[in-house]
Amino acid sequence: MLLSRTKIPALPPRLEGLAALAVNLAWSWHRQARALFRRVDEMLWRDSHHNPIVLLRHVAPERLEALAKDADFCSHYDVVMAWLELEQVSGGGWFRDHYPDVAVDRPVAYFCAEFGLHASVPIYSGGLGVLAGDHCKTASDLALPFVGVGLFYKKGYFDQRITPLGWQEDSDEEVNPDNTPLVPVPGADGTPWVTVLNTFGRAVHIGAWTMTVGRAPLYFLDTDLELNHEDDRTLTSKLYSGGAGMRLRQEWILGTGGVRVLRALGIHPGAWHANEGHAAFMMLERLRELVGSGTTMAAAKTEVRRTSVFTTHTPVPAGHDAFDVSQVAECAGMRYLEDFGADAEHAVTLGVHPRHDTREFQMTVLAIRLAGHVNGVAQRHGIVSRELWGDLWSDRPLEQVPIGAVTNGVHLATWMANPMMRLLDYHLGDDWGDRLDEPETWDAVLGLDVREVWFTHYELKRTLLRHLREEARRRWRDEWSEAAQVVAAGTLLDPTVFTIGLARRFATYKRANLLFSDIERLRALVTNTMRPVQLVIAGKAHPQDTPGKQLLQSLYHFARDPMFEGRVAFLEDYDMHLAHLLVQGVDLWLNVPRVPLEASGTSGMKAALNGVPQLSTIDGWWEEGFNGKNGWAIPKASTDATADAEDAEHLYQLLEREIVPLWYDQDANRIPRRWVQRMKESIRIAGRQFTARRMLQNYVDRYYAPILRGDPFVDDPPLG
Ligand SMILES: *Cc1c(COP(=O)(O)O)cnc(C)c1O
Repeated sequence: MLLSRTKIPALPPRLEGLAALAVNLAWSWHRQARALFRRVDEMLWRDSHHNPIVLLRHVAPERLEALAKDADFCSHYDVVMAWLELEQVSGGGWFRDHYPDVAVDRPVAYFCAEFGLHASVPIYSGGLGVLAGDHCKTASDLALPFVGVGLFYKKGYFDQRITPLGWQEDSDEEVNPDNTPLVPVPGADGTPWVTVLNTFGRAVHIGAWTMTVGRAPLYFLDTDLELNHEDDRTLTSKLYSGGAGMRLRQEWILGTGGVRVLRALGIHPGAWHANEGHAAFMMLERLRELVGSGTTMAAAKTEVRRTSVFTTHTPVPAGHDAFDVSQVAECAGMRYLEDFGADAEHAVTLGVHPRHDTREFQMTVLAIRLAGHVNGVAQRHGIVSRELWGDLWSDRPLEQVPIGAVTNGVHLATWMANPMMRLLDYHLGDDWGDRLDEPETWDAVLGLDVREVWFTHYELKRTLLRHLREEARRRWRDEWSEAAQVVAAGTLLDPTVFTIGLARRFATYKRANLLFSDIERLRALVTNTMRPVQLVIAGKAHPQDTPGKQLLQSLYHFARDPMFEGRVAFLEDYDMHLAHLLVQGVDLWLNVPRVPLEASGTSGMKAALNGVPQLSTIDGWWEEGFNGKNGWAIPKASTDATADAEDAEHLYQLLEREIVPLWYDQDANRIPRRWVQRMKESIRIAGRQFTARRMLQNYVDRYYAPILRGDPFVDDPPLG
């Protein structure tokens, strides 16, 4: 581990393995590994925001020497190291057991513009990235041959600060790669690997970082090299920033540079997955390779289609990237296009939809043209995607449009809280983790002791409230100037009060303000003396989304307003760490997107795994997930025009008449027995159907394994 030594100072020989553990993100979803780092220095662990590299860089050497002599710590260490060794060998595992006939030397290459793996590697903005992170972790769990490809954003997305008046400000702190598990990818002579891409007439040097996620290596491209023109150095510095030109170049680097780094490393993927259209240039680059080496365009297309999977993620038309055809041609440059020979012109129109503006190059259209396996992320989203893109196949009936659906899922070991897992250990047996694919494992959750489920949840709720207060104390000391900010941050929340969680991107279709559409009615709920309600809200607006920022501001005002008696909280800087605390610690998860604009949604799945039922419109995964016993559904509105008003009315009615009374229907020990039934049912359904394990098994069964095995491919390409 030569590379990790440069990040982490010398450790006592007895504990040397901590360095290897700290640079493999598998520690983050292994309970004993997390506990081991916490034991090294509890305060430092917290102050480092659970970053083991920072922890090991700052812990006092005397402390480590003492731990090296502590027999109890050393035996804990030995258990974790034995697990890590097993974790790193690729033999065995679900994939091997189910597909013994598929060779493991040709991995699946998974491309995405963002990866949400852990709060300490902040190169994600939200749902798409977290899903990609959960996908990688699960690929490792299943021992699937797998590599990930993305971009390294030194300034990440953005850190959210809220002014006393509720205006979102975007601060960027630079990530120090030394504090992350990222290490430079070495080139042939041991110096960092670099390749050159010509885009917009300039040679851009591209370097790469790598990071290990369990058994899976991930590669991240970076243009911040001294060799580059100043303007090019910042190309990859921020996620989803800048205008179309910047986006185009980022996506060009991701797709084209990504294929080249894999080639340079001698990795030969057997299947290629573009997670969202941002990554679709990866397919064009492979088409260029084939045509450039003499394959006909038609045969090259079939080969790229045979081996490519494309997952589309949004039913919102504006959510699909589009560029000018002329810009794409300029970005690619003559030398690149020359490789297509007589088909050069055709190559730059692969993103043009025959029925849309023909000067527009759409990444989704490119991806659908070049991937023979296309899917949406929930059953409903599959239908919506067939409607949106079906005309690429001309006038075919929608059910014959070859776009499928794989419903999203979340990574259990990442999202289920420790105390909840301990409860399952105790009741289902320590080996429940080996029986995740058996529905009976999850059915057994219904037999859990009501008191224990409730007290486990209550402990998690108190953890959330403690965190809010600690954060408020820190920000009051370092940043804030007005006492109202301390109130707005949730310091007055009461653990014995029914608490609703709502955390999302402030995109207008997500309607974070639906609950605030009738202030008096909401106030009556919140300030009810017998059965009060609390709200905990978090989320970011895109830095260029002024209406989103205004929406956030209006909610922040309610959090400050004495009229709500400190029962409405707005938490700054929603990230994976805060997401954990929220989905594990509130009583009810609220999700109210305007139907059918939410492709899937995943935060409700995370909540459900922790026994937090969801109240949602029937959109995305909830159409499949809601069974009448694991939460509540807002019925479908009668017309689109009145949807907001109807949905708000249903929302208030459900809370007033059913949900709040049910939660407060508590026995002599203050246990809401009937509510706990819903909690158990939430865990049961989420565990059976909405884990990333089930999702990845679907991807393997339907797409990856048939591709890797070379099954006959019946092509059904769209026009053009
Ligand atoms: C899970 C998650 C999301 C996505 O939540 P949705 O319900 O899909 O909108 C966004 N941000 C963070 C930090 C998350 O953990």
